[in-house]
Amino acid sequence: MLYLYYMINTLLDKVTRTQQLSQDEIIYLLSSATPTALYQAADRVREKYVGNGVYLRALIEFSNICKNNCLYCGIRAENAHIKRYRMTPDEIIQTAQQAAGYGYKTVVLQSGEDIWFDSDKLCHIIREIKKLDIAITLSIGEKSREEYAAYRKAGADRYLLRIETTDKTLYEKLDPQMSWDNRVRCLHDLKSLGYEVGSGSLVGLPGQTVESLANDLLFFQKLPVDMAGIGPFIPHPQTPLANEKSDGHFELSLKMMALMRLLLPDINIPATTAMESLHPQGRLVALQSGANVVMPNVTATEYRPLYELYPGKICLGDTAAKCRGCIEEKIKSIGRHVSSSKGFHGDYLKNTH
Ligand code: SAH
Repeated sequence: MLYLYYMINTLLDKVTRTQQLSQDEIIYLLSSATPTALYQAADRVREKYVGNGVYLRALIEFSNICKNNCLYCGIRAENAHIKRYRMTPDEIIQTAQQAAGYGYKTVVLQSGEDIWFDSDKLCHIIREIKKLDIAITLSIGEKSREEYAAYRKAGADRYLLRIETTDKTLYEKLDPQMSWDNRVRCLHDLKSLGYEVGSGSLVGLPGQTVESLANDLLFFQKLPVDMAGIGPFIPHPQTPLANEKSDGHFELSLKMMALMRLLLPDINIPATTAMESLHPQGRLVALQSGANVVMPNVTATEYRPLYELYPGKICLGDTAAKCRGCIEEKIKSIGRHVSSSKGFHGDYLKNTH
């Protein structure tokens, strides 16, 4: 017992000093039971490198129409049991205006891979939202380099595209007809076009090994990402993975997130909504274990239940106004504050927080 305690502390000292861990060392930390010291180390590093401010990103889920068939995802094309919706460009722009009115400095536009939104439509939406002087993050899946370039030129600042898993065989099993190499190509294109790039993994996928989780962290460090969202996999009843379990996924995600903070100390790390779906205080626990970003939902209440990536999503019946107030109170309750900057990677060091 004493030896295990010693080993954990030695590794935490090492990573805090050098920001480096080997795959074996990451596996050791991921496998250790209730590693309070890991969470505390991540919390200290978070405070030192990105401060006590929490960046809020207003999430607009603008279409649940998707051409893909990811086995884990509730909005996969073959799920015939959900009602599909698509917001109009004007509705999306109005929702962004509303978000800016609530004081949000960034909106995240997320959807399934809905090809109705071609480059022209998206660039129009981006240009209109940009007039509000807020940052724009896109999370709309795999596109060509030309499309990414067009969105960037129109004013998009950031892009979120989770690799989901770095285990290529597992990825291609869970995401049929998709290519892992193409997903990596997308991440490299986004980086080279000057986007702030967010990636991340799903934790607890059937067949996922602790070795591959360690590789995920090393992959994010190598890219390197500007943001990494780590979320637990939660089985959706209308998918082929309906009978899988979610036991232990919260804690494993928390460990991954804390390690992410130690390996890339100054990046932005969200306390993901899926974490709160598995634990009543999930986002606060995450904010105290390395996270510094929260993405409150500003989607109109009528659409929220339809964007069901996984069951048990929080705040389904709430309004955008309620979510804004509620999250701010929660953040204050743990001695932190909502940051007033747009929250670009490195803003804290530039004193624009
Ligand atoms: N179409 C976009 C957005 C996908 S939805 C894209 O391809 O990037 C956003 C994220 O939801 C996905 O990246 C995935 O990690 C997560 N997600 C999907 N199904 C989930 C599930 N069952 N449990 C938890 N998270 C899930």
